[in-house]
Amino acid sequence: MVTPYLTIDLEKIEHNSRTIVSLCRESGVAVYAVTKAVCGHPQVAKAMLRGGAVGIADSRFENIRRMQRAGIDADYLLLRIPPLSAVDEVVCLAGRSLNSERAVLTALSAAAARVGRIHEVILMVDLGDLREGVWPDELIPLTKAVQKLSALRLVGIGCNLACFAGVEPSRENMNRLVTLAAEVEHTCGITLETVSAINSSGLNLLVQGEMPQRINQARIGEGILLGRETIQRKPWPNTHQDAFLLHAEIIELKRKPSLPIGRRGEDAFGGRPKFSDAGERLRALLNVGREDVDISGITPLDPLLQLVGASSGYLVVDVTDSTRPHQVGDTLSFALNYSALLAVMTSEYVKKVPLVKSSEGMV
Ligand SMILES: *Cc1c(COP(=O)(O)O)cnc(C)c1O
Repeated sequence: MVTPYLTIDLEKIEHNSRTIVSLCRESGVAVYAVTKAVCGHPQVAKAMLRGGAVGIADSRFENIRRMQRAGIDADYLLLRIPPLSAVDEVVCLAGRSLNSERAVLTALSAAAARVGRIHEVILMVDLGDLREGVWPDELIPLTKAVQKLSALRLVGIGCNLACFAGVEPSRENMNRLVTLAAEVEHTCGITLETVSAINSSGLNLLVQGEMPQRINQARIGEGILLGRETIQRKPWPNTHQDAFLLHAEIIELKRKPSLPIGRRGEDAFGGRPKFSDAGERLRALLNVGREDVDISGITPLDPLLQLVGASSGYLVVDVTDSTRPHQVGDTLSFALNYSALLAVMTSEYVKKVPLVKSSEGMV
């Protein structure tokens, strides 16, 4: 097969989805599968749905469109706060969206009315992670504004933690959200169906039984795709961490000194990499680079390989200590973290190869 390529083990993703969905279900929490890290790859989305996710959540129109064109008939939730310039697209593509801005909500309602639809909204509250969401004291005024917008239906409130500042979901901030939901209901005379509180960073709290009952929706990406919670990035029990593997080819293999020769300035990316002298080493040049992947997020499956560095199109790997013999034309494989997965999925230079049958056992 022409390299580089990414294998996607669909059975492992389905299995991970089933594991996460079942444990959420035990706490009365429904899971939206978040597909943004895989650019809305249709087969991945289908595997997540087979595992029991109630719908698909993504931050990008292109991704949602890709899944819809592939015939995936699911409930779509737009994750990123909609831009004012694209409200017509939003109401056509997704049945519901996360929101925090009054002007956008007004425009969404007008757009929904134009096409004779009702658009469902979840209002986001910022509980300290300082990304999206209204400050808690603005929630009731915003709810009242939404109540006046005839083509919108307020289905609930939500929050997002950990993604931006790393703030952990806690019993305190989760209770805060639940209290806010009750205040909104009481003050505005409505019932909120949904309290959409967590992403993969909330899995620990959930299994510790610390999640307030009222919380009934999770939006999970990494936990399913890579089998990890996202506070300490520990592997989640009964999930696979290697559903995605990057494979690149050795295109040059030579013994070279470990110290560069000559006066040194900046490298191609403006950095000044440091080298230490370990004598002559056997170095493999691979045909994948920073244009394809976040190099700091890849781990060779052979633990005896060392990543030396990368430019836009080359990855340099020290293979001296490997117990396996290597030659030009061999393929080396790498596990990925979230940031590396996102980049690889977005790179048009890396072929995506979904596998229908599982390759190996569970980690
Ligand atoms: C990306 C995203 C998620 C999913 O986060 P994971 O850590 O991958 O589970 C959930 N909610 C929102 C709003 C997001 O942007």
